[in-house]
This record gives sequence, C-alpha cells and structure tokens, in this order.
Amino acid sequence: MTAPLLEVRGLVRRFGGVVALDGLDLAVRRGTVTALIGPNGAGKSTAFQCISGVIRPDGGNVIFDGQDITGARPDRVTRAGLVRSFQIARGIPRLTVLENLLLYGQHQPGESLAVALLATQAMRRREEELRARAEAIAARLNLSRVLDNQAAALSGGQKKLLEIGRALMAEPKLLLLDEPVAGVNPTLAAEIARHIAHLREEGMTVLVVEHHMDFVASLCDPVIVMAEGKLLAQGSFESIANDARVQEAYMGR
Ligand code: ADP
Ligand code: MG
Repeated sequence: MTAPLLEVRGLVRRFGGVVALDGLDLAVRRGTVTALIGPNGAGKSTAFQCISGVIRPDGGNVIFDGQDITGARPDRVTRAGLVRSFQIARGIPRLTVLENLLLYGQHQPGESLAVALLATQAMRRREEELRARAEAIAARLNLSRVLDNQAAALSGGQKKLLEIGRALMAEPKLLLLDEPVAGVNPTLAAEIARHIAHLREEGMTVLVVEHHMDFVASLCDPVIVMAEGKLLAQGSFESIANDARVQEAYMGR
C-alpha cells in the first residue's frame, strides 16, 4: 500500500470554549473520491479550513504528499498541490469564463483582488500554455460554449462547474470540494458527479464534503463520517449507512 495522499492526525481546533475538532484522524488514498460527511456541527468545515490553511489548528498534524503542511498558509498549501474549491461560487462575475480560468491558473482565489490582478500580468508570458489548459478544462466541464460569456450570466450549475474548473487550473494533486451540489437540481448534480468521476479516472484525488446522500452514494468511496470533532466511522456508503453509530449520530440532532 502506498502512503495516503493526505493524512490528518489528532487534529484539534477550539473556538473559545467550543471544541470543533477533538483529535480528528483521517486519511485520503490516492485516486479516490473520498466523502467527508457528518451531522451539522460535526466539524467538517473546520477540518477543511485547517487542512487548506484558512485557519490554524491548535494541535495535531496535516501531512500532504509526504510534507508536513500543518499551519501552512493557503498559498503554500495550494502550491503544494492541495486546492480547495469554494461552496459559494467566488468567480469574478464581470470577467468571462475564460478570463476567470486564466486568472486562477496562476493564483488561487486570494485574499485580495489586487494580488490576483498582479498575477494576471505575470501570466501574460505564459498565456498560450494557460489558454490551452483553460480550453481543455472548459471542454472537460462542458463549458466550451460559454467561454466568452460573463461568469455572471452562467446558470447555477455552470457556476459550480466553473468553480471546479478554476481549482483545476492550479493543477491540484488533491481537490477539496465543499458542497459541490448544494442548491443544484438533481439532473445537474448527476452531471457534476459524472465530471468528478471522470477526473478520478484521469488520476485525480478528491475529498468532498456534501450533504446530498444520493450524490455521495453514487460517487464516493470511501465515506468518512465525523461526529463531535472526531472520526466516527469509515467505509463504503453501504457499510456506513448500516452502521448503528452513524444512524445514532444523525438522529441525535
Ligand atoms: P460542520 O461543517 O460539520 O457543520 P463546523 O466545522 O462548521 O461543522 O462547526 C463545528 C463546531 O464549531 C460547531 O459547534 C460550530 O458552532 C463551531 N464553530 C465553527 N466555526 C466557528 C467559529 N468561527 N466561531 C465559533 N464557533 C465555530
Ligand atoms: Mg459546514
């Protein structure tokens, strides 16, 4: 067995008196689409934020591709190849789809627009290569026809796909997806699931937080269940769905 791509060991994070992560252990194997699920307040978002460097954990370690990235800032985490796509589409609405992709080829959604725009200038030199990559990613995500449309004019589902496309521009080894089908109709959710399955076939590794159990059941293996800031269970969707502790964790809310 090769080492997992991502390993989280004993992660702890408190907010005042609230213990959001209470010694979380989890691992993501290469080439999987792994789900992270759990009842509201289980600590999923906090785990994502600690892993992607948005907030610092109070304890524990995050090991990514053999590197200890615990407490590393988001830009360093991104450069290491761990790229997060946001639940709320954060693309720049007045830029076209192509421009949004190009903008994030060099730079992940940063703290400031100014930083991103500076990055745009540096990118001009590599524009052709980036453009080819953007077009390939757009084609893969069925966005070729809307490349020159403003991001603001996209449908809700297309915005979600653009969000994934932007993350792919950073050439991730691991893609973190936070609720990729939240607020999306079932037809589009199935389409997004197919796109993610294709990415996996091409060798991508994905960790996804999602509440839609149809989506998780059809796409994700294994499924990791968190409750109260800790790992509760993991395995195939079947096995965790039949796990009494998992049922209890969801019922107890
Ligand atoms: P989930 O994403 O699984 O619903 P969260 O990670 O958002 O869970 O939250 C875990 C716990 O930490 C909850 O009790 C939540 O209220 C608390 N929490 C999360 N973020 C903050 C914050 N910024 N300030 C205070 N408490 C927080
Ligand atoms: Mg959450």
